[in-house]
Amino acid sequence: MNRHRTWLALTMAALCVGLLVWNNDRPQHYYHHSGEVFGTLYNIRYQAHANLSDSIQQCLKQVDDALSMFNQNSDLSRINRNEPVTVSTDFLRVFTEAQSVSDLSGGAFDMTVAPLVNAWGFGFENKAQMTAERVDSLRALIGYRRIHLQGRQIVKDHPAIRLDAGAIAKGFACDKVAEMLRRQGCTNLLVDIGGEVVASGKNSKGELWTIGLTKPIDDPTGTRQELQATLRYDSVCMATSGNYRNFYYEGTERRSHTIDPRTGYPVQHNLLSATVTASSCMRADALATACMVLGAEEAVRMIDQTDDAACCLIVGENDKQVFVLSKRWTHIEELIK
Ligand code: ADP
Ligand code: MG
Repeated sequence: MNRHRTWLALTMAALCVGLLVWNNDRPQHYYHHSGEVFGTLYNIRYQAHANLSDSIQQCLKQVDDALSMFNQNSDLSRINRNEPVTVSTDFLRVFTEAQSVSDLSGGAFDMTVAPLVNAWGFGFENKAQMTAERVDSLRALIGYRRIHLQGRQIVKDHPAIRLDAGAIAKGFACDKVAEMLRRQGCTNLLVDIGGEVVASGKNSKGELWTIGLTKPIDDPTGTRQELQATLRYDSVCMATSGNYRNFYYEGTERRSHTIDPRTGYPVQHNLLSATVTASSCMRADALATACMVLGAEEAVRMIDQTDDAACCLIVGENDKQVFVLSKRWTHIEELIK
């Protein structure tokens, strides 16, 4: 009886080793998956035993189902309509990080900015006629401290409070796809959704991934994409916010898609773009938007208060562009080149 057991155990062990060896021997390819999501383009590259595009699509759909303001059935849309919602884990993760960045930035980043984003013409509704009175009345609806989590329910202090995840959802989608790829055993991967990036390991040439820092020149069609610098990292979560793509002119006034929740107006200063690295891509995404609201000096102060983030800001001074870097920003030579 005992002998049988020993044989059985040995056979099982041999089978397991066989499976392991077979699995490691299976050829690994670099796959490339690209397309459109959340109104922007994505490019995902990874080394794997099999094509994982179905799982990638599923991740992107889950993020859309949690956070999209264009998907009428998303958690976010239903919360905005004051329907009772038991929020998904994805929504919970994003909401928690968003509230933490709101605290850190003194309310410069704030998901409750939605009514202003819409009224200024950057949301899902047509632009409203904006007057100082209208800005003031909408500003009264804004404030991240006026929404709370109770278990899995979002509770609002006022029914007209609405949420916008546009400054954090793309970053979160990068995290989610990268987590799925890692669970599937991938170590070499690059996930780029509309310029927010998670990268680790090596590319198909065996080199570190190269990430381009886009030049912040006016580019409403998003097709010029000239690079300011190219950066190489072993492992990074990075996001860039800028006001050079999504803006319009009202007379001589330039209206950009970053709204200062404290004033109610689109930001107007000489910070052209903010690139942030952090411990997750959703955090980098939210912090980059906060930087754009705060302006260079306060942005660097905020980033230096964290123990994970770094930033590279590009500031327009007369006709020149100047870099402003936080303490932990590493790639200095590449910027000077
Ligand atoms: P991009 O879309 O270029 O990556 P952002 O990450 O900065 O840029 O996101 C901009 C979007 O975030 C806006 O279109 C709007 O939906 C939303 N938004 C604007 N201002 C704020 C703010 N102060 N806090 C949070 N979200 C904002
Ligand atoms: Mg952002």
